[in-house]
This record gives sequence, C-alpha cells and structure tokens, in this order.
Amino acid sequence: METNEPRISAAARDLHRSYGRGGGAVHALRGVSLTLRQGSFTAVMGPSGSGKTTLLHCLAGMDRPSSGTVHWGEAEVSRLPERRLAELRRERIGFVFQAFNLMPAMTVAQNVELPGRLAGRRAEPGAVRAVLARVGLQGRERHRPGQLSGGQQQRVAIARALLTRPDVLFADEPTGALDRATGHEVLGLLREGVDRDGRTCVMVTHDPVAAGYADRVVVLADGLVVDELERPTAQLVADRLSRLGG
Ligand code: ADP
Ligand code: MG
Repeated sequence: METNEPRISAAARDLHRSYGRGGGAVHALRGVSLTLRQGSFTAVMGPSGSGKTTLLHCLAGMDRPSSGTVHWGEAEVSRLPERRLAELRRERIGFVFQAFNLMPAMTVAQNVELPGRLAGRRAEPGAVRAVLARVGLQGRERHRPGQLSGGQQQRVAIARALLTRPDVLFADEPTGALDRATGHEVLGLLREGVDRDGRTCVMVTHDPVAAGYADRVVVLADGLVVDELERPTAQLVADRLSRLGG
C-alpha cells in the first residue's frame, strides 16, 4: 500500500454535530477545533457521551458535521466528490471501531484483507500473516471472528487497519477489551507506526496509562475541548482528569 505521495494530516475547524432537531436535539459536538500534526499521536479522553466517537467519525470522513470543516491535507472533506472521498478513506485513513465491525462469515485473514480488496489492491504475499503475527494472532488466519475472544477480535480489527498502512489511524477505545499485557502490545504498535512510519494516530481512551503513550491528550466534555495536555504521563493525566471530574 505504499504510495510516493506525502502523508496527509487532518484538522477540524469549529465542528458542530447535532442529532435530531428542536427541543429533542442532541448536540454531540459544539465547536471543536483540532489540528492533528502529521506524525503525532493524540489521545482523546472525556466522559461517556462527551462526543469522542462523533469527533472521530467526523475526522475520518464517515460522518458529516452539521457545520464546520474537516481537512485532510489541503482538501476539505465535505467538498470532495463521493468517489474521491471513498478512495482517500480506503487508502489514507484507517479506523479501528469501538465495536470491531468484523464480518462474521469471513475468516480472520479475509477480514484483514477486505479494505485492500475493496480498494482493488492485493496484499503482498505474507503481509496478512505478518500483520496478524504483530498483533499476536499467528495461526488464527482461518478462524472466524465468532471463534475468538473480544480481545482477539479487537486485535483483528487493529491488524485490518494497519495492513493498509494508513496516513492517519483513528482508534476508538482500541484497548478497552484487552488485558493489560495485550493492551501494551497494541499501544506499542500504534506508537511504532507514529515514530517509525510517520503515521498520525488518534486514539480514544479512558485509561491514563494508554494516554501516556500519546504526545498529547485532548479532553472533551459535553461536545467541547475543555483541556489539552502535551507530553502526558499516566500520572499527569490521572491528576488532570480527577480535577476535571471534581
Ligand atoms: P462518546 O464516544 O464520547 O461516548 P458519542 O460521540 O458516542 O460520545 O455521543 C455523543 C452524544 O451524541 C451522546 O449524547 C450520544 O447519545 C449522542 N449520539 C451519538 N450518536 C447518535 C445518533 N446516531 N443519534 C442520536 N444521538 C446520538
Ligand atoms: Mg464512544
């Protein structure tokens, strides 16, 4: 999946996203601006319902903001023709869903290969096996998702997102279903993609230890960015969150 084009970064400007209208409307995002520097690792934190998933979906071009803009490099996502948007999303953007989103009838290997196939590209021989080995799933290529634990399914979803070597990787609570040791392996993989490959990574997490792998923490509350922390450590994050929760 290598291209010679420079890697893109992403930015949000004054994003609003509401669901429904009138008195029953839910305002999931109420004016969020965020620049994701190329080659940086950002953790998004905040209480349940604060808009984290909505923000990731908007940044990844999977949801349209009610107002405001998302840029990938120079391109404004809402102005891209549908085909170009789909192409960029498949080739440049990776997404690890909170709910895994695996195809139950397909094998593990087929699930990992699927985005590439949809983009009309065949994985290099051995690439699927290699990426599965990196997430600790060697020998599971022919199993179905239903035969795996939640943590293993999450690792399949991560392998799938990594295979395409995306410029920007979004991960919605990627370690939420993992034990500590596997969680650290996955976080190490995300970190390595940033340090070694210049990938931009954005991860939602509730875990201060996981956030400690990032370069920056952005805290959402009620659809707004309420705090930002550079070069976070687990201890700093835990302190800051307890103060906010106060
Ligand atoms: P988080 O990921 O931080 O838990 P979400 O982005 O999932 O938060 O949700 C933010 C708010 O938007 C919540 O109040 C949620 O109930 C609401 N919301 C999210 N998706 C929808 C939807 N499809 N329809 C209506 N409300 C939604
Ligand atoms: Mg969420």
